[in-house]
Order: sequence, then structure tokens, then C-alpha cells
Amino acid sequence: MLEKLLNHFRSDLAVDLGTANTAIYLVGEGLVLNEPSVVAVGREGGKILSGGCAVGHLAKQMEGRTPERIEVVRPLRDGVVADFELCEAMLHYFFRKSRRPGKRLRPRVLLGVPGCITPVEKRAAFNSVLRAGAGRVWIMTKAQAAAIGVGLPIAEPTASMVCRIGGGTTEAAVMSLADSVAAESIRTGGDAMDRAIVDYFRRQYALRIGPATAERLKIDVGSAYPPEEERSVELSGMDAVSGLPRRTTITSEEVRRALADPLQAIIEAITSTLDRCGPELASDLMQNGLVLCGGGALLRRIDRFIGERTGLPVRLAAEPLTAVAKGLAVCMEDFRRWRGWMRSSEEDV
Ligand code: ADP
Ligand code: MG
Repeated sequence: MLEKLLNHFRSDLAVDLGTANTAIYLVGEGLVLNEPSVVAVGREGGKILSGGCAVGHLAKQMEGRTPERIEVVRPLRDGVVADFELCEAMLHYFFRKSRRPGKRLRPRVLLGVPGCITPVEKRAAFNSVLRAGAGRVWIMTKAQAAAIGVGLPIAEPTASMVCRIGGGTTEAAVMSLADSVAAESIRTGGDAMDRAIVDYFRRQYALRIGPATAERLKIDVGSAYPPEEERSVELSGMDAVSGLPRRTTITSEEVRRALADPLQAIIEAITSTLDRCGPELASDLMQNGLVLCGGGALLRRIDRFIGERTGLPVRLAAEPLTAVAKGLAVCMEDFRRWRGWMRSSEEDV
């Protein structure tokens, strides 16, 4: 009774706090926020600009073109909180934007976290969310949330598999009978792909490019498996020796070669998850296949690449970028059913 009354004054938020993007579902309403996980701060004092509002889309626009005194920062790295204060300020802003008028009580939050998170990192995640204004916080692994979000038949007596390639981490999980049978989580994702591209051009061409340029290259001409038509593009960077600007022509084949290491790490995460499944589950997976989600799943022909390397049928989720947030929202809506998959700040840590 009291609980019902309280619910009238508080909102429930499903929060996918990602290294690259943050997506928030307001339970009962839908997706209310989807913004880059970045803030713009002044170099002196380290305060967020525009009175705490230079966050998300606004801050992203400033990236790479800021004057000396401004810095665009990502509070998360490799899937976990790297700058505690900025993460708290960013979340505070996002929560305020996601709340509806009249909801005066602090929101309850279900947060998705990578499976490879350490106890110290888990504590930092809980604290950031609480200090940003949440009343209660639960966490759940992003792999489990993704499995629900992409609509896998997780409760059935058959195995199904999801792989989420985010900015900072990649998670693979096999689900059966409403439980995770095997899972793997690694600190390699889209950001590692960008870093691999930066390294490749420095090594092969003595050309320095920034991570934002590398990300553009990855999105525009990158691929995991040979596309129908290879392309070439003009790339501008800084000559590593002379320090002068230089242009060169590069091919999509080279970008693919640059991505070899992070792609191999992703394959290993998937195959080591498969290794831990028995023959029955493996034969289910041959039938049901693997569903890909996360922004990294948008890399050209990654489905074909993973399919060929693992022998599984692979398909891309309908909404790869918001699958985790959606899964978390489903769990909050049916809280009792999924409570066993959640941990609160008082348990487990
Ligand atoms: P996170 O949840 O960790 O923030 P996301 O699921 O939002 O991660 O994915 C972000 C990553 O996806 C970034 O590394 C971004 O570069 C990458 N990405 C987005 N679109 C594409 C695309 N079309 N091709 C390849 N990578 C992409
Ligand atoms: Mg995400």
C-alpha cells in the first residue's frame, strides 16, 4: 500500500552507463535519454562548463575542437568509472533530464555493469549513482540485460547466445532456463578498435591521427570481413617525424588489417564461452545461433566474420544500441521475477 503510494512520487530508471554512450529507459514510458558519455570541463578547476550542462550531445560537439582551456573528458574507461566526480556530475545531469515533473522522490535505478567488473569498481559504480541522486540502486550484468533486451528465449529449456560489443567491453553469454550458463567479459570493444587504428597508421605510415578520426575511419570504411567492394579514402594526419600535416590515401583493406587484434580478442571471448557449454547446449546454439548487439555490432560484416570463425549462425539485433537499457527496463517492470539477477549495494560487495 505504502509502496504503491510512494511509486506515485518516484520514477524507476533503467540505466546503461556505457563508456561511449548512456541510454536511459524510464519504466512505464520508454527510452528517454541516449547521449554520449562525455563532459566538457575547464582545464583550470576541472568544473563542467555551462553551469554543469556541457554534458552528452553538447560536450560531444566540442570534442577535438576545443580551445586550450577546455577539455572534453569521458568519465568512463573500459566499461568502468575512471573519474568518480565527473561521472557523478554527468549522471546527475542525465537523471535530471530523464525525470518527470511531480516525481519528487529520488529515483530507483537498475544499472547495467560489465561482467568483468572488480569489487572496487562495483563499489565506485554504486557510489556514483547514489551520489548522483538515486534513492536505491541495483546492478545487473550487461550480458544478462542484453539477452532480455534482444528478446532471446532465455526462460526456455534451450540454449541461446548473445554477444554485446560496446565501447569499452565485450560480453558474451549463453543463457538457458532463465540463467546464464557460461559468460565471458573482456575489456576490448569499439574503443580498442579505434586505438588499434591509431597504432596501425603510426607504425605503418608514421602518421599520427586522433582517436576521433580513427573512429570515423572505422565507421566509414572499416569492416571485419571483406565487403563487396573495397574502398579507398584520403586520410589527413600529422607526420610523426616532421610534425607537419600530411595526407595519404588508404584502403578499407588496411583498416580491416588494423582491426585484426581487437577482432581476434572478441572471437576468443566467444569461443571460450562456447568451450564451457556441454554438447547439448552446443547443438541448441547451432540451431538458435548468436545475436549481436552494442555499437560495435554495427561494424561492417562483423556478423559474417563471427559466423565464419565460430560456425554459428549469427544475426544482428534490431536495436543494437539500446538493447541493454531495454532489457534492464523489462527487469525493473517485472522486478520480482528478475530480482535474482540483481545485486543491491548492500549485498555481495
Ligand atoms: P557503450 O555501451 O560501451 O557506451 P555502445 O554500445 O554505445 O557502447 O557502442 C559504442 C561503440 O560502438 C563505439 O566504440 C562506437 O565507435 C561503435 N560504433 C558505433 N557505430 C558504429 C558503426 N557503424 N561501425 C562500427 N562501430 C560503431
Ligand atoms: Mg551501450
